[in-house]
Amino acid sequence: MTTFPLSIEFFPPKTPEGMEKLRLVRQQLYALKPEFCSVTFGAGGSTQEGTFSTVRDIQAEGMPAASHLSCIGATQETVRAQLAILKAMGIKRLVALRGDLPSGYGMGGAFQYASDLVAFIRAETGDDFHIEVAVYPEAHPQARSPASDLKAYAAKAEAGANAAITQYFYNADAYFRFVEEADALGITLPVVPGIMPIISSMQLMRFSDACGAEIPRWIRLRLQSFGDDSASIKAFGLDVVTALCEQLRAGGAPGLHFYSMNQSGPTLEICKRLGI
Ligand code: FAD
Repeated sequence: MTTFPLSIEFFPPKTPEGMEKLRLVRQQLYALKPEFCSVTFGAGGSTQEGTFSTVRDIQAEGMPAASHLSCIGATQETVRAQLAILKAMGIKRLVALRGDLPSGYGMGGAFQYASDLVAFIRAETGDDFHIEVAVYPEAHPQARSPASDLKAYAAKAEAGANAAITQYFYNADAYFRFVEEADALGITLPVVPGIMPIISSMQLMRFSDACGAEIPRWIRLRLQSFGDDSASIKAFGLDVVTALCEQLRAGGAPGLHFYSMNQSGPTLEICKRLGI
């Protein structure tokens, strides 16, 4: 068994039963000794209360917690108040994001891009928070070009981000090229690959279409060929994602950030196979 820096992401459950289930899942995942656990904000219609109470629970369990914070449609006053709450809770790490508005809403608000949020957090709170930002090895779906998306990352770094976590991907070359291109621009923050275990093929296809992550044809075809044989999907997914993690580690990735989907099994099994 070796140690390797890991972080694990959760989303806030909507029901008391979901909260209870997540508590058990977290206890199982803490065995991996993650550097921190993070909780998404606003994604899928979740509320600020859901995020903050999950973050509070994680801190109370003795695990460093990171809160995601998205800024689209927010005012300076609301973000200022959120930062004050998180600071009072003893949170030291944020994942600063633009977020997505449901279609039909205009942009508006005090913040247009995540870089505006990073700059605001630094201006308001100095170095109180370690700030992670999101990056996209396969380019953000709304980016004008891969080069302009890299510039958006540069703007987040210049505004004061400490590190980056990627959108998930199944093509390690996209990650390595992204890191190389960022290096060439002088952006040398650690870029931690976001790892999405393959749990269900329908869910993965739906997610990936929405967030612009590519499922390579060879993976898509095999998943389709399994139909609703969930055991085969899981077995194949574990093989594919473990191999991806091995490639990323061997190529120098500074850590792995697991999108747990609030389940412990896949992340635990992948880490076991990696010997972590
Ligand atoms: P930005 O960095 O602002 O980029 C958004 C788009 O604007 C990109 O296309 C970029 O190229 C472009 N852009 C940026 N700056 C400029 C500029 N100056 N000029 C022109 N174009 C520009 N969503 C949630 O709602 N809640 C979460 O908790 C959450 N967690 C996430 C965690 C991770 C690790 C990742 C990878 C994503 C997460 N998301 C979450 C999704 C994220 O909010 C969306 O991908 C969103 O569309 C973009 O957010 P961003 O912070 O990357 O935005």
